[in-house]
Amino acid sequence: QASSNTSVPKTGTVVANADALLERLKFEIDLQTSIINREFTMVYQPIVNLQTGKILGFEALMRWIHPVRGFVPPDEFITVAEDLGAIGALTDFAVEESCRTLKNILDQTDGDPDFFASINVSGRDISRLGFAESLALTLDRYGIAPKSIRLEITETACIFDSQIVRDNLEAFKTMGFGLSIDDFGTGYSNLAHFKTMPLSTLKIDRAFAGDAHENPVSGSIVAMLVGLGTALNVDIVAEGVETVHDVRALTNLGCRMAQGYFFHKPTNSNDLLALVSADQGRHPISSVA
Ligand code: C2E
Ligand code: MG
Ligand code: MG
Ligand code: MG
Repeated sequence: QASSNTSVPKTGTVVANADALLERLKFEIDLQTSIINREFTMVYQPIVNLQTGKILGFEALMRWIHPVRGFVPPDEFITVAEDLGAIGALTDFAVEESCRTLKNILDQTDGDPDFFASINVSGRDISRLGFAESLALTLDRYGIAPKSIRLEITETACIFDSQIVRDNLEAFKTMGFGLSIDDFGTGYSNLAHFKTMPLSTLKIDRAFAGDAHENPVSGSIVAMLVGLGTALNVDIVAEGVETVHDVRALTNLGCRMAQGYFFHKPTNSNDLLALVSADQGRHPISSVA
């Protein structure tokens, strides 16, 4: 069923740009259509105690599997959704699904009161009037306390410096939401965030966490961030932990929490519930040492 290639050879930049523009427009139309048809799902990746492997919470990650395009990476479609002003609908969906999943886990397990769901939100979301209040309403419907939710924001998202952003951050603080800085160290590392934002977590980007075992520069950066997190009394989560070498290096650098394929890949809601239910705190280090 593959059609034969009858496309006109590209002869110049103008044609190439027109092609690129057409591709982009098609992508936007597919994305908008999928938003209308609700063709998204959420997967959940456990966040664990680095030493014991015990599951402490999870990060919710969005998946778009388009009937023709197949799997489209979120890094690609999230930015387009932001450009289209359509990210709000996706964030609302992520919050709703994450609450459903968290509620299920809290109901069906012994219920660690500190168990949390981490949800990615974009700069556009926190620039939305009343965003904090609308989140609180959704949580209310599920009987979930804001302290069980950590909102992940990238450093770059925090530079939208408007009154609405400040109001949302203030409301997050008053209501008791956790705030995480995502991909820490890769954006505009403006340390003034720590004076103005009620942070609960720093997530060390896998650009550092993933090669700290072999790259002294990455190791030094991780050590610095762990020191900063300790001094400020915030959690540090190492992202992209893939090997036992990563686990050993990050443990030695004083890191306590981690997320990565070495422990668990992102998984659907039912499989996550099964993992958490069965979780007695595996000891990945001792079992592979
Ligand atoms: P992120 O928030 O930094 O999420 C972590 C990414 O690392 C995820 O990629 C996850 O699948 C991946 N990852 C986890 N462990 C490992 C590992 O051991 N090795 C490697 N190589 N990768 C690992 P994913 O799911 O493709 O998401 C990419 C980015 O898209 C996210 O980065 C986040 O910025 C954005 N994103 C995903 N879901 C959402 C969402 O619901 N809302 C918003 N606003 N952004 C989202
Ligand atoms: Mg994240
Ligand atoms: Mg990240
Ligand atoms: Mg990222």
